[in-house]
Amino acid sequence: MKNVILNNGIEMPILGFGVFQVPDAVECEQCVYDAITTGYRSIDTATAYLNEEAVGKAIKRSGVPREDLFITTKLWIQDSGYENAMKAFKKSLKNLQLDYLDLYLIHQPFGDYYGSWRAMEELYKAGKIRAIGVSNFAGDRLVDLILYNEIVPAVNQVETHPFCQQVEVKKVMEEFKVQIESWGSLAQGKNDIFKNEILSAISDKYGKTVAQVILRWHIQRGVVAIPKSVHKERIVENYDVWNFQLSEEDMAAIQSLDTGKPFIDHKSVSTVKRLNGIKIHE
Ligand code: NAP
Repeated sequence: MKNVILNNGIEMPILGFGVFQVPDAVECEQCVYDAITTGYRSIDTATAYLNEEAVGKAIKRSGVPREDLFITTKLWIQDSGYENAMKAFKKSLKNLQLDYLDLYLIHQPFGDYYGSWRAMEELYKAGKIRAIGVSNFAGDRLVDLILYNEIVPAVNQVETHPFCQQVEVKKVMEEFKVQIESWGSLAQGKNDIFKNEILSAISDKYGKTVAQVILRWHIQRGVVAIPKSVHKERIVENYDVWNFQLSEEDMAAIQSLDTGKPFIDHKSVSTVKRLNGIKIHE
Protein backbone atom coordinates (compact mmCIF):
# COMPACT_ATOMS: atom_id res chain seq x y z
CA MET A 1 0.00 0.00 0.00
CA LYS A 2 1.23 3.44 -0.89
CA ASN A 3 0.57 6.25 1.59
CA VAL A 4 0.26 9.99 1.16
CA ILE A 5 1.67 12.29 3.82
CA LEU A 6 -0.86 14.85 5.05
CA ASN A 7 0.04 18.46 5.90
CA ASN A 8 0.49 17.57 9.60
CA GLY A 9 2.91 14.74 8.80
CA ILE A 10 0.56 11.79 9.32
CA GLU A 11 0.25 9.07 6.70
CA MET A 12 -2.95 8.07 4.93
CA PRO A 13 -3.37 5.13 2.53
CA ILE A 14 -3.84 6.36 -1.05
CA LEU A 15 -6.45 3.63 -1.59
CA GLY A 16 -9.28 3.03 0.86
CA PHE A 17 -12.79 1.62 0.99
CA GLY A 18 -16.04 3.64 1.05
CA VAL A 19 -19.43 2.62 2.42
CA PHE A 20 -21.92 5.16 1.04
CA GLN A 21 -25.28 3.58 0.15
CA VAL A 22 -24.75 0.46 2.22
CA PRO A 23 -27.57 1.02 4.72
CA ASP A 24 -28.07 -2.66 5.59
CA ALA A 25 -26.07 -3.34 8.75
CA VAL A 26 -25.29 -6.98 7.98
CA GLU A 27 -24.16 -6.21 4.43
CA CYS A 28 -22.09 -3.24 5.60
CA GLU A 29 -20.33 -5.22 8.32
CA GLN A 30 -19.56 -7.98 5.84
CA CYS A 31 -18.16 -5.75 3.09
CA VAL A 32 -15.96 -3.79 5.52
CA TYR A 33 -14.73 -7.08 6.99
CA ASP A 34 -14.01 -8.35 3.44
CA ALA A 35 -12.17 -5.13 2.63
CA ILE A 36 -9.99 -5.28 5.73
CA THR A 37 -9.16 -8.95 5.25
CA THR A 38 -8.32 -8.20 1.59
CA GLY A 39 -5.75 -5.66 2.76
CA TYR A 40 -7.50 -2.28 2.80
CA ARG A 41 -6.58 -0.31 5.90
CA SER A 42 -8.56 2.89 5.28
CA ILE A 43 -12.35 2.94 5.70
CA ASP A 44 -14.52 5.95 4.83
CA THR A 45 -17.94 6.29 6.45
CA ALA A 46 -20.14 9.20 7.57
CA THR A 47 -22.78 9.84 10.20
CA ALA A 48 -25.23 10.42 7.37
CA TYR A 49 -24.61 6.92 5.92
CA LEU A 50 -26.22 5.51 9.08
CA ASN A 51 -23.77 2.62 9.15
CA GLU A 52 -21.04 3.67 11.61
CA GLU A 53 -22.07 0.92 14.02
CA ALA A 54 -21.70 -1.77 11.37
CA VAL A 55 -18.29 -0.38 10.41
CA GLY A 56 -17.28 -0.51 14.09
CA LYS A 57 -18.35 -4.16 14.34
CA ALA A 58 -16.36 -5.10 11.24
CA ILE A 59 -13.26 -3.36 12.59
CA LYS A 60 -13.53 -5.31 15.82
CA ARG A 61 -14.21 -8.60 14.05
CA SER A 62 -11.20 -8.13 11.74
CA GLY A 63 -8.80 -8.31 14.68
CA VAL A 64 -6.46 -5.85 12.91
CA PRO A 65 -4.72 -3.61 15.47
CA ARG A 66 -6.34 -0.20 15.73
CA GLU A 67 -3.09 1.62 14.96
CA ASP A 68 -2.84 -0.16 11.59
CA LEU A 69 -6.21 1.22 10.47
CA PHE A 70 -7.16 4.66 9.15
CA ILE A 71 -10.79 5.44 9.98
CA THR A 72 -12.68 8.42 8.57
CA THR A 73 -16.15 9.65 9.41
CA LYS A 74 -17.98 12.89 8.66
CA LEU A 75 -20.05 15.46 10.45
CA TRP A 76 -23.50 16.05 8.92
CA ILE A 77 -25.00 19.54 8.31
CA GLN A 78 -27.69 19.04 10.96
CA ASP A 79 -24.90 18.69 13.54
CA SER A 80 -22.99 21.80 12.44
CA GLY A 81 -21.93 24.42 14.99
CA TYR A 82 -19.53 24.16 17.94
CA GLU A 83 -21.76 22.45 20.54
CA ASN A 84 -23.50 20.15 18.07
CA ALA A 85 -20.21 19.07 16.51
CA MET A 86 -18.78 18.19 19.92
CA LYS A 87 -21.83 16.02 20.63
CA ALA A 88 -21.88 14.42 17.18
CA PHE A 89 -18.19 13.55 17.41
CA LYS A 90 -18.72 11.69 20.70
CA LYS A 91 -21.67 9.81 19.20
CA SER A 92 -19.64 8.78 16.15
CA LEU A 93 -16.82 7.47 18.33
CA LYS A 94 -19.34 5.48 20.34
CA ASN A 95 -20.99 4.08 17.19
CA LEU A 96 -17.61 3.06 15.83
CA GLN A 97 -16.45 1.66 19.20
CA LEU A 98 -13.28 3.73 18.91
CA ASP A 99 -11.49 6.11 21.21
CA TYR A 100 -9.98 8.27 18.49
CA LEU A 101 -10.52 8.98 14.77
CA ASP A 102 -7.88 9.20 12.09
CA LEU A 103 -9.80 11.71 10.00
CA TYR A 104 -12.94 13.72 10.72
CA LEU A 105 -14.45 15.68 7.85
CA ILE A 106 -17.07 18.40 7.60
CA HIS A 107 -19.36 16.56 5.17
CA GLN A 108 -20.86 19.57 3.39
CA PRO A 109 -19.96 23.27 3.14
CA PHE A 110 -23.35 24.26 4.60
CA GLY A 111 -24.70 25.27 8.00
CA ASP A 112 -22.47 26.68 10.74
CA TYR A 113 -19.33 24.96 9.57
CA TYR A 114 -17.07 27.63 11.04
CA GLY A 115 -18.41 26.66 14.48
CA SER A 116 -17.87 23.00 13.59
CA TRP A 117 -14.29 23.74 12.59
CA ARG A 118 -13.53 25.36 15.96
CA ALA A 119 -14.79 22.22 17.72
CA MET A 120 -12.73 20.03 15.42
CA GLU A 121 -9.60 22.13 15.99
CA GLU A 122 -10.06 21.60 19.74
CA LEU A 123 -10.61 17.85 19.39
CA TYR A 124 -7.56 17.64 17.16
CA LYS A 125 -5.40 19.49 19.68
CA ALA A 126 -6.72 17.21 22.44
CA GLY A 127 -5.47 14.18 20.46
CA LYS A 128 -8.95 12.80 19.75
CA ILE A 129 -8.56 13.10 15.97
CA ARG A 130 -5.29 12.62 14.06
CA ALA A 131 -6.32 14.87 11.15
CA ILE A 132 -9.27 17.14 10.37
CA GLY A 133 -10.61 18.06 6.98
CA VAL A 134 -13.56 18.97 4.81
CA SER A 135 -15.61 17.59 1.96
CA ASN A 136 -17.35 19.12 -1.04
CA PHE A 137 -15.61 22.47 -0.56
CA ALA A 138 -15.10 24.47 -3.74
CA GLY A 139 -11.90 26.54 -3.95
CA ASP A 140 -13.50 29.76 -2.68
CA ARG A 141 -15.03 28.26 0.49
CA LEU A 142 -11.89 26.23 1.15
CA VAL A 143 -9.58 29.23 0.95
CA ASP A 144 -11.85 31.39 3.13
CA LEU A 145 -11.95 28.64 5.80
CA ILE A 146 -8.15 28.40 5.66
CA LEU A 147 -7.54 32.15 5.86
CA TYR A 148 -10.02 32.61 8.72
CA ASN A 149 -8.82 29.75 10.93
CA GLU A 150 -5.71 28.37 12.57
CA ILE A 151 -5.56 24.81 11.25
CA VAL A 152 -5.48 24.15 7.51
CA PRO A 153 -7.70 21.18 6.55
CA ALA A 154 -5.57 18.10 5.90
CA VAL A 155 -7.99 16.74 3.27
CA ASN A 156 -10.80 17.93 0.99
CA GLN A 157 -12.91 15.00 -0.23
CA VAL A 158 -14.59 16.00 -3.49
CA GLU A 159 -16.35 14.26 -6.35
CA THR A 160 -13.48 13.19 -8.60
CA HIS A 161 -13.50 10.67 -11.45
CA PRO A 162 -12.60 10.63 -15.15
CA PHE A 163 -15.70 12.70 -16.07
CA CYS A 164 -15.05 15.28 -13.32
CA GLN A 165 -11.32 15.64 -12.70
CA GLN A 166 -11.36 18.74 -10.45
CA VAL A 167 -8.37 20.28 -12.21
CA GLU A 168 -8.87 23.81 -10.83
CA VAL A 169 -9.71 22.96 -7.23
CA LYS A 170 -6.84 20.44 -7.19
CA LYS A 171 -4.46 23.31 -7.98
CA VAL A 172 -5.87 25.36 -5.09
CA MET A 173 -5.49 22.37 -2.77
CA GLU A 174 -1.90 21.88 -3.87
CA GLU A 175 -1.16 25.55 -3.18
CA PHE A 176 -2.47 25.23 0.41
CA LYS A 177 -1.18 21.66 0.98
CA VAL A 178 -4.66 20.16 1.29
CA GLN A 179 -4.74 16.53 0.13
CA ILE A 180 -7.38 15.81 -2.52
CA GLU A 181 -9.51 12.72 -1.87
CA SER A 182 -11.93 11.43 -4.47
CA TRP A 183 -15.49 10.43 -3.77
CA GLY A 184 -17.36 8.63 -6.51
CA SER A 185 -13.92 7.34 -7.47
CA LEU A 186 -15.55 5.05 -10.07
CA ALA A 187 -18.13 7.70 -11.07
CA GLN A 188 -20.64 5.56 -9.14
CA GLY A 189 -20.78 3.45 -12.31
CA LYS A 190 -22.65 6.27 -14.07
CA ASN A 191 -22.43 7.26 -17.76
CA ASP A 192 -21.62 3.62 -18.56
CA ILE A 193 -18.09 4.23 -17.29
CA PHE A 194 -17.21 0.54 -17.18
CA LYS A 195 -17.96 0.32 -20.93
CA ASN A 196 -16.28 3.58 -21.91
CA GLU A 197 -14.36 3.11 -25.17
CA ILE A 198 -11.17 4.93 -24.16
CA LEU A 199 -10.99 3.24 -20.74
CA SER A 200 -11.78 -0.18 -22.23
CA ALA A 201 -8.99 0.17 -24.81
CA ILE A 202 -6.52 1.06 -22.06
CA SER A 203 -7.71 -1.81 -19.87
CA ASP A 204 -7.21 -4.29 -22.75
CA LYS A 205 -3.69 -3.02 -23.25
CA TYR A 206 -2.65 -3.72 -19.64
CA GLY A 207 -4.80 -6.82 -19.11
CA LYS A 208 -6.59 -4.98 -16.28
CA THR A 209 -10.25 -4.09 -15.72
CA VAL A 210 -11.68 -0.62 -16.32
CA ALA A 211 -12.13 -0.18 -12.56
CA GLN A 212 -8.45 -0.99 -11.99
CA VAL A 213 -7.41 1.49 -14.71
CA ILE A 214 -9.49 4.26 -13.11
CA LEU A 215 -8.06 3.56 -9.65
CA ARG A 216 -4.53 3.47 -11.03
CA TRP A 217 -5.19 6.82 -12.74
CA HIS A 218 -6.27 8.36 -9.39
CA ILE A 219 -3.17 6.99 -7.66
CA GLN A 220 -0.82 8.30 -10.37
CA ARG A 221 -2.43 11.76 -10.05
CA GLY A 222 -1.78 11.65 -6.29
CA VAL A 223 -5.50 11.50 -5.52
CA VAL A 224 -6.70 9.35 -2.61
CA ALA A 225 -9.43 6.97 -3.87
CA ILE A 226 -12.08 5.12 -1.81
CA PRO A 227 -14.10 2.85 -4.16
CA LYS A 228 -17.17 1.16 -2.72
CA SER A 229 -18.41 -2.33 -3.49
CA VAL A 230 -20.54 -4.85 -1.67
CA HIS A 231 -19.13 -7.69 -3.80
CA LYS A 232 -16.08 -9.51 -2.49
CA GLU A 233 -14.65 -10.18 -5.97
CA ARG A 234 -14.83 -6.47 -6.83
CA ILE A 235 -13.35 -5.52 -3.46
CA VAL A 236 -10.40 -7.76 -4.29
CA GLU A 237 -10.23 -6.48 -7.89
CA ASN A 238 -10.20 -2.84 -6.78
CA TYR A 239 -7.31 -3.52 -4.43
CA ASP A 240 -5.17 -5.20 -7.11
CA VAL A 241 -3.75 -2.05 -8.70
CA TRP A 242 -0.11 -2.08 -7.66
CA ASN A 243 1.59 -4.12 -10.38
CA PHE A 244 1.15 -1.86 -13.41
CA GLN A 245 1.83 1.74 -14.40
CA LEU A 246 -0.21 3.81 -16.90
CA SER A 247 1.90 5.55 -19.53
CA GLU A 248 1.83 9.33 -19.93
CA GLU A 249 -0.07 8.82 -23.16
CA ASP A 250 -2.78 6.81 -21.38
CA MET A 251 -2.98 9.35 -18.55
CA ALA A 252 -3.51 12.04 -21.22
CA ALA A 253 -6.20 9.96 -22.95
CA ILE A 254 -8.10 9.69 -19.65
CA GLN A 255 -7.66 13.43 -19.13
CA SER A 256 -9.61 13.97 -22.35
CA LEU A 257 -12.73 12.46 -20.69
CA ASP A 258 -13.09 15.41 -18.30
CA THR A 259 -16.35 17.30 -18.74
CA GLY A 260 -15.54 19.67 -15.87
CA LYS A 261 -19.07 19.06 -14.57
CA PRO A 262 -19.87 17.21 -11.34
CA PHE A 263 -22.94 15.00 -10.89
CA ILE A 264 -23.73 17.05 -7.79
CA ASP A 265 -23.24 20.80 -8.10
CA HIS A 266 -22.65 22.16 -4.59
CA LYS A 267 -23.02 25.69 -5.89
CA SER A 268 -26.59 25.22 -7.05
CA VAL A 269 -29.44 26.50 -4.89
CA SER A 270 -31.38 23.27 -5.31
CA THR A 271 -28.43 21.25 -3.91
CA VAL A 272 -28.12 23.58 -0.90
CA LYS A 273 -31.85 23.19 -0.21
CA ARG A 274 -31.88 19.44 -0.76
CA LEU A 275 -28.86 18.63 1.41
CA ASN A 276 -29.93 20.99 4.21
CA GLY A 277 -33.25 19.14 4.18
CA ILE A 278 -31.69 15.76 4.97
CA LYS A 279 -32.20 15.09 8.69
CA ILE A 280 -30.46 12.10 10.20
CA HIS A 281 -31.94 12.34 13.69
CA GLU A 282 -34.66 14.22 15.60
P1 NAP B 1 -18.00 4.61 -6.45
O1 NAP B 1 -17.07 3.98 -5.51
O2 NAP B 1 -17.51 5.52 -7.49
O3 NAP B 1 -18.84 3.50 -7.21
C1 NAP B 1 -19.53 2.50 -6.56
C2 NAP B 1 -20.34 1.73 -7.60
O4 NAP B 1 -19.46 1.03 -8.49
C3 NAP B 1 -21.25 0.71 -6.97
O5 NAP B 1 -22.42 0.65 -7.75
C4 NAP B 1 -20.44 -0.61 -7.11
O6 NAP B 1 -21.35 -1.70 -7.21
C5 NAP B 1 -19.72 -0.38 -8.42
N1 NAP B 1 -18.42 -1.04 -8.49
C6 NAP B 1 -17.43 -1.01 -7.56
N2 NAP B 1 -16.34 -1.68 -7.99
C7 NAP B 1 -16.66 -2.17 -9.21
C8 NAP B 1 -15.95 -2.95 -10.15
N3 NAP B 1 -14.71 -3.36 -9.92
N4 NAP B 1 -16.58 -3.26 -11.33
C9 NAP B 1 -17.84 -2.84 -11.57
N5 NAP B 1 -18.57 -2.10 -10.70
C10 NAP B 1 -17.98 -1.76 -9.54
O7 NAP B 1 -19.18 5.41 -5.69
P2 NAP B 1 -19.42 5.95 -4.23
O8 NAP B 1 -19.67 4.81 -3.31
O9 NAP B 1 -20.45 6.98 -4.31
O10 NAP B 1 -18.05 6.66 -3.82
C11 NAP B 1 -17.03 6.04 -3.10
C12 NAP B 1 -17.03 6.48 -1.64
O11 NAP B 1 -16.89 7.89 -1.54
C13 NAP B 1 -18.36 6.23 -0.92
O12 NAP B 1 -18.61 4.90 -0.61
C14 NAP B 1 -18.22 7.13 0.27
O13 NAP B 1 -17.39 6.57 1.25
C15 NAP B 1 -17.57 8.35 -0.39
N6 NAP B 1 -18.57 9.38 -0.80
C16 NAP B 1 -18.50 10.60 -0.21
C17 NAP B 1 -19.37 11.61 -0.58
C18 NAP B 1 -19.25 12.96 0.07
O14 NAP B 1 -20.14 13.81 -0.10
N7 NAP B 1 -18.18 13.23 0.79
C19 NAP B 1 -20.37 11.38 -1.54
C20 NAP B 1 -20.43 10.11 -2.13
C21 NAP B 1 -19.52 9.14 -1.75
P3 NAP B 1 -21.43 -2.88 -6.11
O15 NAP B 1 -21.39 -2.26 -4.74
O16 NAP B 1 -22.76 -3.50 -6.43
O17 NAP B 1 -20.27 -3.78 -6.37
